[in-house]
Amino acid sequence: MIDHKYSIPTPQRWETCFYCGGHLPAKNKEHIFNSNWTGKHKTGSLICDVCNAAFAPEVDKAFLPYTKYQMNVWSLKGERHKDAPTIKTKEKIVIRPGAQPEVTPSLNLHIEDGKLYYKGKAPNKATLRRLLNDQLPLKLGRSLREDEIQQINISVRQAEIHTELAGSVQLHDSIDPSLEMRSTIHTILKCMALYDPKFREHIFKDVLDFSRYGIGDWSSFAVQTHSIVVDVVAAYSKNNPDYNAVEVHYLPANKQILARLVILGQINRWVILSNEYEGPFQLLFVGEPSLGGILEPLFLTFADSFPLSVQVDRVMVIDDFAKELVQLSQIALGPDAQLANLFRCIEQILKGKSHVTVELIEEYRDALLSFITNMGKIQSQITGSFISYSEEDMLRDLMDNGLAELEALIGQSIVSPKVAELITRPILFVFSRLIQLGKEAKSRREDP
Ligand SMILES: [Zn+2]
Repeated sequence: MIDHKYSIPTPQRWETCFYCGGHLPAKNKEHIFNSNWTGKHKTGSLICDVCNAAFAPEVDKAFLPYTKYQMNVWSLKGERHKDAPTIKTKEKIVIRPGAQPEVTPSLNLHIEDGKLYYKGKAPNKATLRRLLNDQLPLKLGRSLREDEIQQINISVRQAEIHTELAGSVQLHDSIDPSLEMRSTIHTILKCMALYDPKFREHIFKDVLDFSRYGIGDWSSFAVQTHSIVVDVVAAYSKNNPDYNAVEVHYLPANKQILARLVILGQINRWVILSNEYEGPFQLLFVGEPSLGGILEPLFLTFADSFPLSVQVDRVMVIDDFAKELVQLSQIALGPDAQLANLFRCIEQILKGKSHVTVELIEEYRDALLSFITNMGKIQSQITGSFISYSEEDMLRDLMDNGLAELEALIGQSIVSPKVAELITRPILFVFSRLIQLGKEAKSRREDP
């Protein structure tokens, strides 16, 4: 159908540094994708030690204001880093890796007329339950009876949750488009050098000078694009939810080379590398999964009659950078953080358990309830209209969509396919329900 041929290119070994002609192989290996964004693949046969070292103090850190959110939320860290990044906000809130605002779990309890009153601060109901089970015996001076433990479980289940969302905090950051574009071009050039032995014939000295020495203006390179006819990144992202990638479009019809860098599957930068390209119509793609895996290159050659694969829309302005940063931080600390938290919670609940138990189902239900509650709040914030979903409705829906059937399987192995399906089903339901509620809220706002 599409008139093209493709090949898997082999990595090049350069005799001398493509920037300065310096000595190779280098002593220090260079990451293809920056290690700050989880890049792992390294080579010593593209650029020399002097050039490599020149990027480290500033250029390699240019995307940290953007990447730190994704890295924090999913607890990702670079190869040479001890921990995933911590985020500090303007209100001096510290957000630990895993989008965890620094909260010390605490519990206030008192007993009056034989009744227990308590108020706790904890990341989830399971932690609150553990706090009660630990502290109440100390307060009473004896261990808890079975009926009291049951009573605590019921009470925690019914406890009202007040959530503080990390997404509502104010952030302050400074960005530098010049350093960002140098980091972008540097990464793209490394991918080109690795797989296209002729790339230097098409790249002008001003591109190399900007990338290596910062000579020139970032706005000569940074562009927004449209009509992406061939989008290898989109196809790649279906198999790799989190990745870094470079896509270079060689376009003889308008004499351009346009290239794109994607960082952590979220941050997109398009650059224009040449306005005088004369060569075949081709596309180079290089991708690397964030969670580890091999560097995957692909070279496509198209017939000249093929429509342009991508076109320049306009030059980027500083507002574009700022808007993207705001959006990224909101998505990361909002929905992405809740999702990451739900996954961690489920992992924790299933850890060390071999069979379905009452406790497992309760903890799972709590995790889902607090996920829905928080997502509802976030969606209300985003859409600007209140999403109403009572806890009774949530519970009923969860029971109808897997939990009731799971209760009938108490004692069965958690690795049985039926149990696995029943653990997944409520999550899938919750997602579709939240999307539906969001749509309803949106249409209410547009048509009150
Ligand atoms: Zn060099």
